[in-house]
Amino acid sequence: MKHKGILIVVSGFSGAGKGTLMKLLMQTYDNYALSVSMTTRGPREGEVDGVHYFFSTKEQFEDKIAQDGFIEYARYCDNYYGTPRKYVEEQLEAGKDVILEIEIQGALKVKEKFPESLLLFVTPPNAKELERRLVGRGTESQEVISKRLARAYEESEGIEAYDYIVVNDNLERCAEEINGLVEAARKAPVRRETFIKEIREELKEFSKGAE
Ligand code: 5GP
Repeated sequence: MKHKGILIVVSGFSGAGKGTLMKLLMQTYDNYALSVSMTTRGPREGEVDGVHYFFSTKEQFEDKIAQDGFIEYARYCDNYYGTPRKYVEEQLEAGKDVILEIEIQGALKVKEKFPESLLLFVTPPNAKELERRLVGRGTESQEVISKRLARAYEESEGIEAYDYIVVNDNLERCAEEINGLVEAARKAPVRRETFIKEIREELKEFSKGAE
């Protein structure tokens, strides 16, 4: 299936600042639509159902899996997370560039199903800074923080599968950089198939004249 918009996958270690970055991107540019995932994780303080996530029970989540309602889903630190299919397909069809903020297993599944998707990996400048941000967030217990740092180490093994690494040392600069990468991605041959076909046809006509 060919989409009008670009499917953008943004991953990064938990605590890399993806959430804030995505919010800024959405506020600054109007071509993006942010997919809201479904999860069986409980809401953190301040998280709103339908805005940050669709919070669900394990049973509801498994029903949706059975109905093929997800583009991808994964288990992450004892919970399910998944991308509902309908919104993403509608927005891409309407020409929006759709952002999925998902972890690495999901990202790889998306790349497999949609090879023309753009995979970005957001990371803080170094591991110490990652720990500082996780602790500073103050929403997780020490146990959860340790689990997330261990998971970050595992995820670092998969970074090579992404198209670009974005170092988040400054939010505004980073949002601009991401938008620049998306603009550049629009020009990649894999997303310009119609253009290529048309110019090739035209050239063929010219070349006939030269025979
Ligand atoms: P958190 O619990 O911190 O909100 O999210 C944990 C991890 O799950 C993050 O890396 C986040 O990007 C990822 N995540 C959120 N939604 C989805 C989803 O729909 N699918 C997958 N595969 N990962 C997700």
